[in-house]
Amino acid sequence: MRAVDIITKKRDGQELTSDEINFFIKGFTSGEIPDYQASAWAMAVLLNGMSVRETIDLTMAMAGSGQVLDLSGVVKIAVDKHSSGGVGDKTSLVVLPAAAACGLPVGKMSGRGLGFSGGTLDKMESIPGYRVDLSVDEFKQQLLEKGIVLSGHSLDLAPADGKLYALRDVTGTVQSEALIASSIMSKKIAAGAQAIVLDVKTGLGAFMETVEEARSLANLMISIGKLAGKKVVALLSDMNQPLGHAVGNALEVREAIETLHGDGPENFREHCIEICGNMLVLGEVAENLNRGRLLAERAIADYSAFEKFRTLVIAQGGDVSYVDDPDLLPKARMIEIIKSPRSGHLTRIHARIVGEASVLLGAGRAKKGDPIDHSVGLVIHHKVGDNIEADEPLFTIHANDEAKLALVRKLVIEAHAWSDEAVERLPLFYQ
Ligand code: URA
Repeated sequence: MRAVDIITKKRDGQELTSDEINFFIKGFTSGEIPDYQASAWAMAVLLNGMSVRETIDLTMAMAGSGQVLDLSGVVKIAVDKHSSGGVGDKTSLVVLPAAAACGLPVGKMSGRGLGFSGGTLDKMESIPGYRVDLSVDEFKQQLLEKGIVLSGHSLDLAPADGKLYALRDVTGTVQSEALIASSIMSKKIAAGAQAIVLDVKTGLGAFMETVEEARSLANLMISIGKLAGKKVVALLSDMNQPLGHAVGNALEVREAIETLHGDGPENFREHCIEICGNMLVLGEVAENLNRGRLLAERAIADYSAFEKFRTLVIAQGGDVSYVDDPDLLPKARMIEIIKSPRSGHLTRIHARIVGEASVLLGAGRAKKGDPIDHSVGLVIHHKVGDNIEADEPLFTIHANDEAKLALVRKLVIEAHAWSDEAVERLPLFYQ
């Protein structure tokens, strides 16, 4: 078999056999198939799609490209969560400690930013010293002892996805149902999850723009999960406007800490409670969603979730004084508040434009392996449906470069739209 034949076959819209998919993933993982061929193949998949059978084969090939973690003996039920990627999505930073504080041990392997969407690892690295490269043994030990882990993907687990993910980020090949579903599910399977809450985003700042596309992705991932013997719950959540207010690494850590203090934006807090409630049900800590939600709310109100976040940071070598005093987190040199050019009801805060603007400021990567700037980003002060006055603060830019600041000022003003008529608020969840 030759990689080039498999690329041309997919380019011509044909279905790949299981053997071809296994050959390609094996060769790519070992380095025999170089990045440029994998990029061409990913583009062919993006343009021509994959059948359900091909997607399942791809998921299993990537899950099996390294070690598969067995967490039995470490936790009773291994419950995981995963977001399909969004703007301002710092959910794991709140949900994991809240679930752990409710008595559900959670070990999660997260990723870095992808395209215009942020990544949990990049956010956590705003805290000096925080290690995201735990070995599998360290991961298991910390899960057993502390009941909470938030690390990067061990090189031993689904390495094919690790390589492909970084490549897709910089080759315009993120927005493919087959590639997203197989990327997410291969990681969850390799990380030993028995039950998974999928937070599938839909809207202008999601990889799936319409609710129908998001539902199709969710159904595909549920089918893959079932086939692999996992319990899967998928929520379709709104990503037309950023989640919460903060977009950018240190800014998001700060907002997550505020939320763990019982403050923080209402829509973000509610989003976290719903995800956590579902995890507690799957983990058999709560008998139903209402009870799960109540437990999650309590863990935030009594500060036990915040304490778990501190435990996590300390366990992974982070300087916990940054959690206790978020003013220590990296700060940009230029902070500019942009005022609303007009009064009216906000009809749109285009999440993707906000995400792209944040990447432009340096919060994300333009090329594989680029360093990122943890201090930069945006704080969007309003939500769709708000009625605002002219000259009221609209958003705040945190930048380290004058030219980028000027560009982002223009972009993010254009991301907002107003109407003289009252506008309905966006739902948090569609299903
Ligand atoms: N999250 C992932 O892990 N992979 C994707 O492809 C998209 C979002």
